Amino acid sequence: MVDTVQSVTGPLLPEQLGVTLTHEHIFINMTRTTPQDGYLNVWAEAEAELGLFTAAGGSTLIEVTNGELSDYAAPVGWSQDPRDMQQNPRTGSRSVANVLATKAMAEATGVQVILGTGHYYDTYLDKRWFDRNATNTIADFLIADLLDEIPGTGVRAGVIGEVASDLSHITAVEERSFRAAARASRETGALVSTHAASFPTGLAQLEIMREEGVDPGRVVIGHADTVKSVDYSLELARRGAFVQFDCLMTCRIGGNLISHQIDRRLSYLRTLIEKGHQDRILLSQDVCQRSHTRALGGPGYTFLFEEFRALAANAGIDPEVLDSIHTANPRRAIFGQ
Ligand SMILES: [Zn+2]
Repeated sequence: MVDTVQSVTGPLLPEQLGVTLTHEHIFINMTRTTPQDGYLNVWAEAEAELGLFTAAGGSTLIEVTNGELSDYAAPVGWSQDPRDMQQNPRTGSRSVANVLATKAMAEATGVQVILGTGHYYDTYLDKRWFDRNATNTIADFLIADLLDEIPGTGVRAGVIGEVASDLSHITAVEERSFRAAARASRETGALVSTHAASFPTGLAQLEIMREEGVDPGRVVIGHADTVKSVDYSLELARRGAFVQFDCLMTCRIGGNLISHQIDRRLSYLRTLIEKGHQDRILLSQDVCQRSHTRALGGPGYTFLFEEFRALAANAGIDPEVLDSIHTANPRRAIFGQ
């Protein structure tokens, strides 16, 4: 259990969280795998999207852009020193410009932003950096981000994530990233939030956490809704992890609702709730590409509070249950209570 969680503008108590999105990005660079669209770095666009979030009743956003995804992920001209734009070459931490721009954005919009720290999946990882640093050293860098500061920013991370494996198996370098994340979580009590985009990598991630002595209740398995089997989500919940349906960006594209994506998720949600796992569910949109913004017809940070709410009610999911998923569950995940 932890008493407060660090946001970019200071510590937050459980009752201050309010409506919380648990897996989002504000400034992110994923052009290595999505060269056309995977770049959010325009101040005015981010400010407008976050304004819609607060207007829809949102208050807190967990920003899980990790070190690799923070490389050059800041508004143009934010820093005159190119080193500030780069992922920290020594500690692997988020870039200075990314952290400071995110903090300024939180101050400008009033959104409470909790930053993640950690490492992305194999394609993005610097193998030589991992080879040169012991797993415990990598854990120490994460611990310093959480307890001291993300180097050069005066800002602390609040959670560990998104920590990632992208294929059905976990690669050697990813395994070390997960073990470092687990050790940092044990040391700090911080929540671990993952990227698990294929079956059955979330189960393998949980197994590493268990081996390292992390309680599954301190782990959020992300992108669980990309796996087209409700049994997988049920198994994650049975093992005590949080099951995160965060790929809602596939539900609204170019202004159109994608009904097969929505219907499948609503059906899984209903099953999880009926089987008694309501308190293990987290929902988010994972805005990480320009096409995901409301301005370009994507879900933005508001789909869950707008169209999705009405569709869920039609599917027999009580709005009060959704309210509790948006507020009580993030609180339970972050604070372990
Ligand atoms: Zn993400």
